[in-house]
Amino acid sequence: MPTDSSWVYAPAPEDSSHVEIKKHYQLFIDGKFRDAADGRTFDTQNPANEAHLSEVAFSGEADVDTAVKAARRAYNEVWCPMRPADRGKYLYRIARILQERSREFAVTESLDGGKPIKESRDIDIPLAAAHFFYYAGWADKLDYAFPGRSPSSLGVAGQIIPWNFPLLMAAWKIAPALACGNTVVLKPAETTPLTAMKLAEVFQEAGLPAGVVNILPGDGSTGAALVQHPDIDKIAFTGSTEVGKRIQQAIAGTAKKATLELGGKAANIILDDAPLHQAVEGIINGIFFNQGHVCCAGSRLLVQEGVYDSVVTLLKDRMETLRVGDPLDKNTDIGAINSKAQQDIIQGYLELGEKEGAEIHQPNCTLPSKGYWCLPTLFLNATQSHRIVQEEIFGPVLAVQTFRTPDEAIEMANNTPYGLSAGVWTDKGSRIFNFTKRLRAGVVWANTYNQFDPSSPFGGFKESGFGREGGLHGLEPYLRLD
Ligand code: NAP
Ligand code: MG
Repeated sequence: MPTDSSWVYAPAPEDSSHVEIKKHYQLFIDGKFRDAADGRTFDTQNPANEAHLSEVAFSGEADVDTAVKAARRAYNEVWCPMRPADRGKYLYRIARILQERSREFAVTESLDGGKPIKESRDIDIPLAAAHFFYYAGWADKLDYAFPGRSPSSLGVAGQIIPWNFPLLMAAWKIAPALACGNTVVLKPAETTPLTAMKLAEVFQEAGLPAGVVNILPGDGSTGAALVQHPDIDKIAFTGSTEVGKRIQQAIAGTAKKATLELGGKAANIILDDAPLHQAVEGIINGIFFNQGHVCCAGSRLLVQEGVYDSVVTLLKDRMETLRVGDPLDKNTDIGAINSKAQQDIIQGYLELGEKEGAEIHQPNCTLPSKGYWCLPTLFLNATQSHRIVQEEIFGPVLAVQTFRTPDEAIEMANNTPYGLSAGVWTDKGSRIFNFTKRLRAGVVWANTYNQFDPSSPFGGFKESGFGREGGLHGLEPYLRLD
């Protein structure tokens, strides 16, 4: 909470009493919930107060094998032969049930992952439903999406997702796979399994045929077993560049197709003619949204020299008014860091940035005593060779640099191993087009940031991965196009 009393809001917590979180969640295989073959379980907790939330079954190799077999059978006997329009009906039904249960999903997402309720309520859950609606529409129109080609499904898709947008990432992956006629085995992240398990309940409620989607909570070893399973036709992975590289090595020489959505180190560029207040609001949103746990977070800020002082003053002022705390409070801007492990990584970078010689700035604000937290942080006077400028931190930490000319800004922006996204802030359309053409990033936002829509493709250049999710482009990785 900010200490200035003029900014203290009365607490406004979202009620969580209507949300049932079971004591124990089981694996979802072949349309049924069941325990792991070896009976293993793990715990999931609320990162905002370290409270135990639930015990979850842990999928081992034997469970991966059972799930892949169920998905194969469902593919051969039910889902592939089904009329495409009927597949679409199931997707519409799933989307509608998600909308009906949206409050429950939003609260669960915030409890399990630590993100502010205003984000899970207004972004994660509505967008997840929108993805199912959008791809439901494509299910019977694939011939129109790829005229002159003959699209056909691939088979069984193994999908592995991270903890930063648990339900949304599941929707990004499952909806296009099903629309294209594939069946799925999905592995959610270890720290955020709950909305994926509730999504399994939605599939049951929607009457989705058994085995079409199987959900296997577990850890990295579960993901690795899925990648290595010989009867998987496609791997769709979102996560770190490090694990992405390991997956590529594991499937090299096999017929498995892959799409990899990996890390990022996006530059937000403010030119001297930009509307500064609007730009600063966008920069704040770009890096502090979801605690900076966003692959496309605007974690670098490049400011043209003439407006540097004004931008830094505005940024610091705005940071004083950000509210950090209870994720379930509707006024919270920055929630909890997803796990102790991620908090330690971020803390390591805060120490490193100071050691490298950048100047650290944090607002005057107290943090809750329990749970995992990080104050929003600026690093001023950062330089291109600093590791805090080159490496993904995945926390609410912004490295600020200056530039003199647009050419210099473009060179700096492109000078990292990543290329997922970027932002440009200027008054002139011609400058926007100059930047969007020359920035080597999958998404470039102009005078806005972090805007998502199911009809718009998303994906990276360089070490940010390959393949696109969303839009018509998002169908292609799930199809054979003869
Ligand atoms: P991560 O460690 O790579 O984990 C991602 C997923 O892979 C998790 O489900 C993880 O399981 C699983 N996994 C771990 N080791 C594996 C292995 N050897 N084989 C197969 N699967 C394995 O990434 P994270 O730390 O959870 O997520 C943050 C990263 O994701 C960031 O780098 C971020 O930029 C990236 N990300 C990218 C996008 C995008 O669209 N480009 C979107 C969101 C996040 P456990 O969690 O259970 O260990
Ligand atoms: Mg959790």
